[in-house]
Amino acid sequence: MPNILILGGTTEASALAVACAEGAIPTTLSYAGRTASPRTQPVAVRVGGFGGAVGLAAYLRRERITHLVDATHPFAARISANAVAAADTAGVPLVALTRPAWRAQAGDRWQRVPDVAGAVEALGGPPLRVMLAVGRMHVADFAARPQHAYLLRFVDRPEAPPALPRHHLVVDRGPFTVDGDRRLMEAHGIDLVVAKNAGGGGAAAKLHAARALGLPVVMIDRPPLPPRRELHDVATVLDWLDHGAERGV
Ligand code: NAP
Repeated sequence: MPNILILGGTTEASALAVACAEGAIPTTLSYAGRTASPRTQPVAVRVGGFGGAVGLAAYLRRERITHLVDATHPFAARISANAVAAADTAGVPLVALTRPAWRAQAGDRWQRVPDVAGAVEALGGPPLRVMLAVGRMHVADFAARPQHAYLLRFVDRPEAPPALPRHHLVVDRGPFTVDGDRRLMEAHGIDLVVAKNAGGGGAAAKLHAARALGLPVVMIDRPPLPPRRELHDVATVLDWLDHGAERGV
């Protein structure tokens, strides 16, 4: 009998959870617990860290998990590295459900940087109106560039105000549209967008909007991860759960 653990926190993880529920596949979806009110899910949900790779390996054994699917965000590098190590230790087959990275298209004005520190570095010039689409956890890093006016968009209202002297906060969990993001950028007179190369459809709206408006984008590349098998859609993961894992493919 299969018993799936999905490491979640993304729309892809939620879509896989729905598909597993529809297929009556016993499944648990795991959240880190960063979001105050995660979406209701049709499978069992657990919340909170496991205690590193060792804790995750112990969980896999204790809960008799047969398949591990890492459907975390491409910038969640620690849990993904832990998943590779824990799956190896516990002898549980692992796949990652990932979104292909975005690639610059004609009309894009991207400056690629390797990490958040690189994006902060890239903002060393005169004051601009910046849409900072890097998520709540990294906003404080940009306090080192206080000359800019920042437009922020978070899923939840934060408990403490963001540590940036000049900012405007929009609380919205999407889905976002190109027209909506374009209007938002125009309304705030945005000069520059800072984004993580998350990939995927919904989060790409801001890039299409930036292209349409001719705006430059500071694009933060993905963090490096240990080698693992990556699949890009729910149907392929279901196929792997069905028989691919046993064949070792
Ligand atoms: P991270 O740096 O890779 O993980 C930090 C720690 O949080 C991990 O070591 C683990 O704690 C715990 N953790 C992370 N994901 C977990 C999960 N799905 N279930 C249980 N524990 C988890 O991750 P992060 O960047 O803080 O992201 C946290 C969560 O937010 C992820 O689930 C990710 O999918 C989601 N998210 C992240 C981003 C982003 O840009 N980073 C964007 C959207 C959504 P232990 O070591 O104690 O197990």
